[in-house]
Amino acid sequence: MKTLLVGEIHEDAHNLLKEKVDISQISTEEFLQQPSLNHEAIVLRTYTPLQKEQLSKLPHLKKVVSCSVGINNIDLEELKRRDIELIHCSGTNSNAVAEHTLHLILALCRHKIPFLELTGKTIGIIGFGYIGKLVAKKLKGFNANVIAYDIIEQDSKLLEELDVKMKPLSEILPNADIITIHVPLFPQTKGMINEEIFSQMKDSCLFINTSREEIIDDEALLKHFPRFEGAALDVYSERIKEEFSGKSNIILTSHIGAQGKESWRRMCVEPVEKFLDKI
Ligand code: NAD
Repeated sequence: MKTLLVGEIHEDAHNLLKEKVDISQISTEEFLQQPSLNHEAIVLRTYTPLQKEQLSKLPHLKKVVSCSVGINNIDLEELKRRDIELIHCSGTNSNAVAEHTLHLILALCRHKIPFLELTGKTIGIIGFGYIGKLVAKKLKGFNANVIAYDIIEQDSKLLEELDVKMKPLSEILPNADIITIHVPLFPQTKGMINEEIFSQMKDSCLFINTSREEIIDDEALLKHFPRFEGAALDVYSERIKEEFSGKSNIILTSHIGAQGKESWRRMCVEPVEKFLDKI
């Protein structure tokens, strides 16, 4: 199958592709400049847009293999309309992102002496999927009060095991000492952490976002941040970077949440293996 690899993936996944398919590799910049391509499959990561415009350059496309968990770069409606299969593996980097979230929470708590202890704090997790659940699991040893919000009903046995209570946003926001965001970016979630949401968060809370920058309304974050004790962001706009750089109660990491050595291999090899199994 004539396959296009855009950007870099883990070398083990690249080697698997080389063994089994006719593969050519280009950068995202080169891909965006191509007028048309005759590949039947494309392997890419979240940094390469695959919207209607790019899809229209690939008239023979049958399969899209995403070596990332967030798939907001891809026009899913257009894939459906053209009957193009999407192959991607949820959960392959959740542990790395959950560990990074824990590092950010702990680092924020310790940005000054005396530092904040997690025991007894209320921690609100917004978006309780793979990553949100792992964050809760890792928090268990801290004896914190973990509450979460999701639009999907959760398994009561799992909630008991994780010692988490699902609550509406109206209960989480005014009560949480620490709020961490783990929702996916969809048109419905774009800008969902907005003025209405920030204004309900309590003074001196810690705010963490490792999901996507577009989930946050920058204006509202900038307005409410002075009330907060601190914020840690793995994903953020240029504007936020400019406004927040150098502040002692801000931690900015550059979209590295998933960059664990183990997860980097897993998030590339698993979808590639799934793709190769099917052809
Ligand atoms: P997931 O799909 O397992 O979980 C997302 C959860 O959010 C789901 O349970 C879903 O029901 C819930 N949700 C959707 N809309 C919601 C809403 N409006 N309100 C509340 N909950 C809502 O995804 P995941 O693996 O946990 O990852 C979450 C997101 O984290 C990804 O979509 C991606 O954008 C981001 N991510 C970031 C990095 C990084 O490097 N920082 C790495 C991986 C993933």
